[in-house]
Amino acid sequence: MKRRDFCRSTLAASVVAAYPFMTNAALAESSVAAVSLDGAEIELEKASIRELAEQLNGPLLMPGDTQYDYARRVWNGMHDRHPALIARCANSDDVRHAVTFARERDLLLSVRGGGHSWPGKSVCDGGLMIDLAEMNTVTANPETRRAYAQGGALLNGIDTASLQHGLVTTAGVVSHTGVGGFTLGGGYGRLNRKYGLAVDNLVSADLITADGKFRTVNAEQDPDLFWAIRGGGGNFGVVTRFEFQLHPFDRNVLSGAIIWPIEQAREVLDFYGGWYAGLSDDLYVGPAMVTMPDGVSAVVMEVVYAGDPAAGEKELAPLRKIGKPMDDGVKIQDYMVMQTHEDGTWAHGVRSYAKNGMAREFSPALIDALIESFVPDPRLAFFTHTAGGAVSRVDELATAFPHRKAETMIAVGGGWMDPAQDAEAIAIARAWFKQLEPFIGGYYANIDFDGADSKGGNYGPAYERLARIKGQYDPGNLFRLNRNIQPAS
Ligand SMILES: Cc1cc2nc3c(=O)[nH]c(=O)nc-3n(C[C@H](O)[C@H](O)[C@H](O)COP(=O)(O)OP(=O)(O)OC[C@H]3O[C@@H](n4cnc5c(N)ncnc54)[C@H](O)[C@@H]3O)c2cc1C
Repeated sequence: MKRRDFCRSTLAASVVAAYPFMTNAALAESSVAAVSLDGAEIELEKASIRELAEQLNGPLLMPGDTQYDYARRVWNGMHDRHPALIARCANSDDVRHAVTFARERDLLLSVRGGGHSWPGKSVCDGGLMIDLAEMNTVTANPETRRAYAQGGALLNGIDTASLQHGLVTTAGVVSHTGVGGFTLGGGYGRLNRKYGLAVDNLVSADLITADGKFRTVNAEQDPDLFWAIRGGGGNFGVVTRFEFQLHPFDRNVLSGAIIWPIEQAREVLDFYGGWYAGLSDDLYVGPAMVTMPDGVSAVVMEVVYAGDPAAGEKELAPLRKIGKPMDDGVKIQDYMVMQTHEDGTWAHGVRSYAKNGMAREFSPALIDALIESFVPDPRLAFFTHTAGGAVSRVDELATAFPHRKAETMIAVGGGWMDPAQDAEAIAIARAWFKQLEPFIGGYYANIDFDGADSKGGNYGPAYERLARIKGQYDPGNLFRLNRNIQPAS
């Protein structure tokens, strides 16, 4: 190689190699104003910022960096926050350094998996955001029937990696949701009646706890911590890898949606209320009441039959005879059609509100309330996650997700794009939900914008043990931007 060419290529290689480190943080020339865990103003020394930037394999971003605005953006467009620093972690070591940096300085810390937290807990103003978006690899092993998902992976990754081997586990209903927050909070999905919640399929997890230690937790190792992360949310550390149980699965499933005009809501919901309790675990079917962009309101039943389609046709037949559907789209089709069909409705950047509660039964009084409270507003809908089956066969306190006896999670929520509509749309949704409150008890923290108290509501009888474990592993409450559990001393 000619000397001139050699110099050029060496220069290019060093620029590429240095690129991730050439952020404002790597070159920090002054201290940076930040916010402590309790909200006080603090200064981060420039030398410590530079040191963290050098320790990380991924970039450490500050305002002004080209990736900064992209990285701080989360799914719900209502949250426009500006962290002092964003650590775009490339591996567990990066997470360890970032956690240690925050703890040693009492620095406010948020953890972003897939960025879908309704209240936007994964991004903070003035603190350090641990961003796991680049740690998104999922692999599946057909021999051991296990899937391994990095902490920032998306649900689509789990489905895709598993289905190619004829295997599956429970993933949620919108494929761009993060595995992290979804799993740590419980994890409802269209297969939960057959295979349980995501937490029921979690075999082990690697995490970095507040002391900066890397731990692998499972039923034998740190069993208390393993119990706590199956429902206790992001309170206990940053999970860098999840290990899930997979199940044999034919991806050609009887599935789709049946849609009736809203005028037939009484007939459809009355039938559903008397029918759902005897259904097999294979059948996932639950109602929603929506208004389409053209103003037409409807009752929608989503169906996925996770078994022999012929048996599914038979079991579903009584529902299909009810009323006169506007559309019956239930047919044998690839499982991923249903797993992605709502991705556009709940697209990134939508301004969104949701609130839910747990209903033990789909009672006649609840049906009356659903019909009477319905608001025909295209921005908002009533929707459900249907449980029962395998979900209800797990003991209430076997994991930290205690809502085992709730047959249905009942939610009101939706989305719009215009910031000027925030207050009005949220007020309508809250008033709507209020009318359903007499029929529910407890709620699912993952689908909740408001963040009512953790103790009585979402963690229920699991709270005291959770608080003890929190006290053991995170006594300073470093991981507080979540549905927070106060550490017990
Ligand atoms: C469009 C949409 C569809 C949804 N569908 C379903 C559904 O079908 N079933 C269901 O059960 N829920 C569903 N949810 C709720 C969803 O489970 C929660 O919003 C969940 O928090 C999303 O996880 P995330 O990693 O994307 O969120 P993030 O905003 O990244 O994280 C939320 C919180 O989880 C914690 N966290 C995330 N990743 C990690 C990690 N690796 N280690 C430690 N803590 C972490 C942090 O505390 C963080 O504040 C849905 C949400 C949306 C917006």
